[in-house]
Amino acid sequence: MRSASAPLALLAVVLLAAQVGCGHGESGSLGAQYRGAPIILISIDTLRADHLPLYGYRSGSTPVLDRLGRDAIVFDDVYSHGPLTLPSHASLLTGLLPTHHGVRDNIGYAVKPASRTLAARLKSAGYATGAAVSAYVLRRQTGVAEGFDFFDDAIEVAGAGESLADTQRDGQLTVEALGAWIDRQSDSRVFAFLHLYEPHTPYTPPPAHRMREPYDGEIAYADELVGRLLDRVQTRGWLDRAIVAIVSDHGEGLGDHGETEHGILLYREALHVPWILRLPGGAGAGRRVAGTLGLVDVAATLLDLAGLDTGGLDGQTVRTGLASRTPVDRGVYSETLYPRLHLGWSDLASVTDQKFRYIRAPLPELYDLSNDPAERRNVAASHTGTASALAAWIARTTDGAKPSEPDPAPADVRERLKALGYIGSATAPLSSSTAALPDPKDHIAAFEAFKRALAVERAGRSAEAVQLYREILASNPRMVDAWESLAKALLGSGRTKDAIAAFDKAIEVDPLKPEPHLALARIYALERQPARAQQHAELGSRRDPGQGYEILAELMMDAGRADEAAADARRSLQVDPLRYMSHYLLGVIARQRGRCDEAIGHFERAIEAKRLEPRAVVRNLHADLADCLAREGREADAEREFKAELAAIADSSDAIVGLATLYKSLRRDAEARKVLAELVPRTPDPTAETYWTVVHTLTVLGDATAAREWAARGREKFPRDSRFR
Ligand SMILES: [Zn+2]
Repeated sequence: MRSASAPLALLAVVLLAAQVGCGHGESGSLGAQYRGAPIILISIDTLRADHLPLYGYRSGSTPVLDRLGRDAIVFDDVYSHGPLTLPSHASLLTGLLPTHHGVRDNIGYAVKPASRTLAARLKSAGYATGAAVSAYVLRRQTGVAEGFDFFDDAIEVAGAGESLADTQRDGQLTVEALGAWIDRQSDSRVFAFLHLYEPHTPYTPPPAHRMREPYDGEIAYADELVGRLLDRVQTRGWLDRAIVAIVSDHGEGLGDHGETEHGILLYREALHVPWILRLPGGAGAGRRVAGTLGLVDVAATLLDLAGLDTGGLDGQTVRTGLASRTPVDRGVYSETLYPRLHLGWSDLASVTDQKFRYIRAPLPELYDLSNDPAERRNVAASHTGTASALAAWIARTTDGAKPSEPDPAPADVRERLKALGYIGSATAPLSSSTAALPDPKDHIAAFEAFKRALAVERAGRSAEAVQLYREILASNPRMVDAWESLAKALLGSGRTKDAIAAFDKAIEVDPLKPEPHLALARIYALERQPARAQQHAELGSRRDPGQGYEILAELMMDAGRADEAAADARRSLQVDPLRYMSHYLLGVIARQRGRCDEAIGHFERAIEAKRLEPRAVVRNLHADLADCLAREGREADAEREFKAELAAIADSSDAIVGLATLYKSLRRDAEARKVLAELVPRTPDPTAETYWTVVHTLTVLGDATAAREWAARGREKFPRDSRFR
């Protein structure tokens, strides 16, 4: 048997190769549309194409993608429109360039509400739309959830010290969330979007996927997860008639041009991404498609394959080109504003076509990709005609879109800044021309040094980190992120005055950056300078209204101005319904006004929202809810919530007193006495006040004997305190 089957298998391979080679006989017909076909879109974050065996990589292990690739069409030259997760996904999910969907950085921007997303278009065509994402950067507040019936972004926000970009969840949770949604659908007309964050730093693959290069291990794990999702689709019996597209949002530097990760430079390693497109019935299986494409073309192609209109998109469909085998050669626009917004360097923009990549920078770059795919020889000086034609192409493509900052500081903001003592550069720091700013490629080493300093700080060596930040800032005084990190490190070492000075420097460089303002608002609140705190909170709320208005609400609350506090809390929740402190403050205000029924709802929403930040502690959140529940006659619920408060804060006197009072009212006297007796042992450094709380509560509850016993103990510890006599 073995001797007979081997030649047959070989023959099949030869036949297939011949078919692909002459372009006939591919299974299924290319150029067809598939109305109502299930559409599965998977984005594997930070996956550079040349680290996939499917794209010629000699290492790595991706059996699922390899198999899928044999059954699909593989596009060789697809480029991202920017090396950052949020802007790039916004392009993938809208079919628009960053200049049109409006998202130019991972933070501080949201998809313009007018953008009709891929999900929204499919939804109007009767598709059920579901998504699950793995990174905080793609949370629903960014606007990428627009058009999805279901959008799972339940990602725990990690503790202080972990960067925003590292806040992620294991992809198996994401696959499970989306798989469960798929299982709930009765009809196969679904659009399911899965985002996996595995290949993004930190590279920590599970043991089964550890290999020499941890980055490749993460890709191997992502490959396994893709397989798991496709198995779920297969179980529903939908896989064979589905359209499956697998892409990445951008690549990873891995040191090729001095950048280890991504975000700053625009070379091939950061922009070249895979696109695997499996059509129903395996149409076009094994086809490799050359020609330059952009991620915006994915949305257009998926809509067109589903028989839907692609009007208003920057992307173009490849469907008809596949049928006619017309070679594509589009210029692909890419950009990064990260160096300008975070580091005080020039932003970059580029265009890639079949022959060249041109990068607009203080020193423009032109690479002849056919002779120099690794982009080592800048030929801009010797190919001036090509360089200026491509520069003009970029100018035309970005026409009408502000090339740089999100908003210049408006006049009233400038006034406020002046009132707070900021002068000089604060007026227009971001609008200087590109040529006058440092060139990112010349300074990339400083950014890598900055990242090493961050790692030193995360390892708990604050003093050393402070020194490193100062060295970096000495040669890069406009590196606003470094000023901010320096300020946080100083604050962490108790050097509040120096921290304030460093935050002030950050504001001088970028007067509207919300983080320094919000940090200063909190510092000044603690320093009992409420007016200054309020001004910074208001400035911070310009670009981060969720957090800014929440801090304002807390400040108003401290000042006893409950009406204004409630208004600010509502404003905060309007932009970010998950701000648990805002929910909590609304609850506190309602409770103070005797409206416990209303307060219960606010407290419950606060607890629900806080689930994403389990490490954050809000003193009295559960105790206040418990108190209201007890007042409403819901004793069992109240008991549970008092206990939840004690689980979070072991020495909460509000919870202990409240619980004792509840037990007493339920005639559970022994339990009341027992829980009160726990207050002193639970308190790390019990004071006379701690003992007095026990004595006083027992007295109020009418337990005179136990009160006398505790008074005697208090007298023994604090003989001079008159309350125990
Ligand atoms: Zn990304």
